[in-house]
Amino acid sequence: MTSPVWHPFTQHGLGEAIPQVVRADGAMLHLAGGGTLIDGISSWWVTTHGHCHPRIAAAIAAQAGLLDQLIFAGYTHEPAERVARGLIDIAPQKLGRDPLAHVFFSDSGSTAVEVALKMALGYWHNRAKDGLSSPRHRILVLEHGYHGDTIGAMSIGERGVYNAAWTPLLFDVGTIPFPAAGAEQKTLDALESACAQHPAAFIVEPLILGAGGMLLYSPAILREMAAICARHDVLFIADEVMTGWGRTGTLFACEQAGVVPDIMAVAKGITGGALPLAATLATSRIFDAHSSTDRSRLFYHSSSYTANAIACAAAAANLAIWREEDVLGRIAALSQGIEQRLGCLAQHPAFANPRQLGTIAAIDLIAKDAGYLSDLAPRLRAFFLENGLLLRPLGNTIYLLPPYCLDADQLDRIFALLSKAGDIFGI
Ligand code: PMP
Repeated sequence: MTSPVWHPFTQHGLGEAIPQVVRADGAMLHLAGGGTLIDGISSWWVTTHGHCHPRIAAAIAAQAGLLDQLIFAGYTHEPAERVARGLIDIAPQKLGRDPLAHVFFSDSGSTAVEVALKMALGYWHNRAKDGLSSPRHRILVLEHGYHGDTIGAMSIGERGVYNAAWTPLLFDVGTIPFPAAGAEQKTLDALESACAQHPAAFIVEPLILGAGGMLLYSPAILREMAAICARHDVLFIADEVMTGWGRTGTLFACEQAGVVPDIMAVAKGITGGALPLAATLATSRIFDAHSSTDRSRLFYHSSSYTANAIACAAAAANLAIWREEDVLGRIAALSQGIEQRLGCLAQHPAFANPRQLGTIAAIDLIAKDAGYLSDLAPRLRAFFLENGLLLRPLGNTIYLLPPYCLDADQLDRIFALLSKAGDIFGI
């Protein structure tokens, strides 16, 4: 029977298998009709502690019987207050620096980024109204970036065949070359001269560009980029949607550079992966520019599910796990396990360019037809699926971003399969 469900990015109409998952726990997915899969990608960066974490599941159940959903414009509830305070407590902050002190809730990484852009433009709009600045609209972005799939988020991301259909709607941005090893100065010079033209903001994925191919750059460069923005009074936006919640080895990637952004977008692991929720954190000056009795200055953005109480309860439970358990210790152990095995896999002649940051690992498979739109990725995905592993290769790059509860046996099974994939699909 064909399914009426329209799945993102798949070719199931053309025969690609779509397994039905009925249950999940920890790193494991249980399939209809039997069979299991190891979730090697935390269901794409979200189920950080593993699936159905008992503390998060219990918090959701309790909240569902208490208060589910509340219009958030003009009302509030305790779970949202608790999460906002918790986020401010753990966000990168620095003594003497305008703190990230305000939290705006939304429901996906793309929306958190849209909100960040709207905050930045709203800030300059209101400054211009007060005669304190000329209007600023231009957004600077890092080459190869990815920030989501809504129109605004696509506008600031890499353009390619996958968003060609919408290109006429995307707005212009200033693209700063990626700071590839050895070419960092070119990036810094380009940013310096672009900032001198008074753009509104510069947005980056800190330390690692995810969907762009897991491209790494150093904390020192992140620090220098933030410093250039500060010198020119250009707002610095960190998109920590992917890098947040411990993925890079610290709670947020910006910490490794000692950078406090003006605006920071978080999502994915904010509820430990159980429910959709996102947040955009802003400094006091951004908030103050929007707070006024003049209603034309307010921040106009809201959606029906803003700060859904059950999602906030899940996020509060996630924050409690971070406070009370040694999550960073688990991450360090898992990162070490990945590092050892990735080093061995890199010896395989079919693999090249291994890279790792914390619990994020990527490696390129050397294959004949390896382009982004070739059928290599779906064939690899099918191979892993047949062998009990959920991975999502893109082009010829295989990504690993497992939940922090993954054990050594599961890690061994994953790397044995990667090696086998090299034997079968590599050249
Ligand atoms: N920003 C980054 C850096 C991302 O990696 C992603 C998603 N992979 C997004 C934004 C968009 O998040 P979402 O899919 O929740 O809309």
